[in-house]
Amino acid sequence: MSYTNFKIETDADGIALVTWDMPEKSMNVFTEEVMDELDAIVDQTTADAAVNGVVFTSGKSSFSGGADLSMIKSMFTLHAEEKKNDPANAAQKLFNLVGRMTGLFRKLETSGKPWVSAINGTCMGGAFELSLACHGRVAANSKSVKIALPEVKVGIFPGAGGTQRVPRLTNTQDALQMMTTGSSLTAARAKAMGLVHEVVDPEKLVEAAKAMIKNGLKPVQPWDEKGFKLPGGGVWTPASAQLWPAASAILRRETYGNYPGAIAILKCVYEGLQVPFDTGLKIEQRYFTEILQTTEAFSMVRSLFVSMQELGKGARRPAGVPKSEFRKVGVVGAGFMGASIAYVTAAAGIPVTLIDRDMEAAEKGKAHSEGLVKDSVSKGRLTKEEGEALLARITPSADYGDLKDAGLVVEAVFEDRQVKKDVIEKVEAVIAPDAIFASNTSTLPITGLAGNSKRPEQFIGVHFFSPVEKMMLTEVILGKETGDKALATALDYVAAIKKTPIVVNDTRGFYVNRCVFRYIHEAYDMLIEGVPPAMIENAAKMAGMPVGPLSLNDEVAIDLSQKILKATVADLGEKAVDPRHMELVNKMVDELDRRGRKNGKGFYEYPAKPAKKYIWPGLKELYPQKAADKVDVEVLKQRFLVTIALEAARTIEEGIVTDPREADVGSILGFGFAPYTGGTLSYIDGMGAKAFVELCEKLAEEHGDHFKPTPLLKEMAEKGETFYGRFDPYGQAQKAA
Ligand code: NAD
Repeated sequence: MSYTNFKIETDADGIALVTWDMPEKSMNVFTEEVMDELDAIVDQTTADAAVNGVVFTSGKSSFSGGADLSMIKSMFTLHAEEKKNDPANAAQKLFNLVGRMTGLFRKLETSGKPWVSAINGTCMGGAFELSLACHGRVAANSKSVKIALPEVKVGIFPGAGGTQRVPRLTNTQDALQMMTTGSSLTAARAKAMGLVHEVVDPEKLVEAAKAMIKNGLKPVQPWDEKGFKLPGGGVWTPASAQLWPAASAILRRETYGNYPGAIAILKCVYEGLQVPFDTGLKIEQRYFTEILQTTEAFSMVRSLFVSMQELGKGARRPAGVPKSEFRKVGVVGAGFMGASIAYVTAAAGIPVTLIDRDMEAAEKGKAHSEGLVKDSVSKGRLTKEEGEALLARITPSADYGDLKDAGLVVEAVFEDRQVKKDVIEKVEAVIAPDAIFASNTSTLPITGLAGNSKRPEQFIGVHFFSPVEKMMLTEVILGKETGDKALATALDYVAAIKKTPIVVNDTRGFYVNRCVFRYIHEAYDMLIEGVPPAMIENAAKMAGMPVGPLSLNDEVAIDLSQKILKATVADLGEKAVDPRHMELVNKMVDELDRRGRKNGKGFYEYPAKPAKKYIWPGLKELYPQKAADKVDVEVLKQRFLVTIALEAARTIEEGIVTDPREADVGSILGFGFAPYTGGTLSYIDGMGAKAFVELCEKLAEEHGDHFKPTPLLKEMAEKGETFYGRFDPYGQAQKAA
């Protein structure tokens, strides 16, 4: 029999080598067709008396990324349709559907033939669950081997036996840690945990897997043997009595109960370890069915997997512009941002010319990369040669003439119109007529800056976030005259440096900073009302924000907030800012010299390490304090999420952001907006526009007009619309989604 996605070669010893190699895909993933074929392969190898065992491997450089989450997304849509037609049967259908993979893997492991998984690279999710169902697992001793069950990161959990097999192979604590964080294991770590049996040189992988079978590997899993004992002891042991209360407490501390998928992992393991294996699988299947019906799972899969992938692949790239090849990128301004932009560009294999006002400043910019490379080499993330090659790609210079052959120049000089004007003119005097100029400005409108350019259609904003090495988002800003080639080039560049782009139209603060300042300003309001500062910070984290607003303001600098407020007054008049906010930042900066982390004094105090930062005690003296028990934490949580989501809705209404995927992904990658919501607009869609409008009206009554719902939201509430329905990114009327 022949298969589309697999190749089978049986050797003289009767060992069938099944190689998974999906045509026209760079990565193997589980699809309906893959499961059908795998099912047939299990039947075929089981029935064939000439087959003594099976080695399962991949024909690609990686093993597999796991389930095709687009398939899961369509499962959600299917379920939503079913639910409308036949609610009683919809859940049962979903239950049967999610049991498909579990059943297939169980069939494989009880087939009576020994199966060995030969893991040659990244092995994630369903692919590792398949490997766990094999009787033997061999991994290549290679940096490219990354083993993980990362489902929790997209709101679901390992639902194809993972929650039952992992804690039957390793101790419960490690099993829980692996699954609730979704973090990757190296081959060596997986072996130490008992999750793989052998780690061998990559070229000996298949040979070692075959040898396991030849050496008499039993086709029976430990849990199917009589007298099987759990490696971590059962649930009713003294060790477990220590573990379980701590496990739920830690999960609560880390996630504030916001992630149903993570909680389900604990339930599956706790309940599953007390019953026979097959019953454990049933328990997992039931929880998985439940989790798939949560708003969190739906929104997280959509934003954090599907949309992120679509944006990364250039969903917004204009068609018809040939793909850009970057033979050289120029970076002008080798300061805090420019130095990092040069690093990520060189790390992507692109030669960079890094310009500053003099050679010393340019070299100082390159020194940033030298530090990062040194660190990576010492940690084994880069070889010495790779590090040297990376650094060789960065050429510091003070001569604009060196930019003449750059196809793209990114400007990151001082945030000053005159300085930028000067740089734009100097760069344009040397670059080729078709080269693209990108500004990394964070506050100056692109259209205004492009006024200094002789070719505004080739002028664009490429806004990075700090720290550039870590932040995965880049905002691409279109000026009024920006043309398709500039947009395509910017998106190709963002893809080359492996970041996710969102494309936004020109406005003060663009998208991300507009939302971020709403978050910070809500905290100012709370401070002024006398909410205890610690409650402000904790409520934000309980709402799912990674960093409290006061802490965040310290990081971005309070004097920057002051500068932005002042600029807003200068451009738009006094009424454009809240005078109480102005008073607060003026007091912090001008009177108290508390500028944030950078001068060691802000809303927090920063004592010498190893002591931790703590909220500045004087903050409580600035405003009369409310008693903590008179403040409703739930309302504080809502205020943070609602004020940000409302701002996102305004950007859509104003035509700044045009695609809901970008608002959602941008909010999560840009400032960590409560990821369990799926992002700012999914948060609104998740509760429904009607409920959101009601919530806004209630908050507006008590906490100010900035909570008033916008006309668009009111209209959507009336019509029962969603953002993804009304601003359908797929161009079809999918009102229900
Ligand atoms: P910085 O002061 O650290 O660096 C600016 C660099 O530009 C300095 O090295 C300076 O010598 C150089 N420079 C000034 N005039 C120049 C000229 N005429 N020719 C060549 N080089 C010149 O500032 P930064 O924080 O890196 O910010 C740079 C830009 O990035 C600004 O537009 C800022 O708004 C934007 N930005 C900053 C952040 C951030 O977090 N700091 C985030 C996003 C965007």
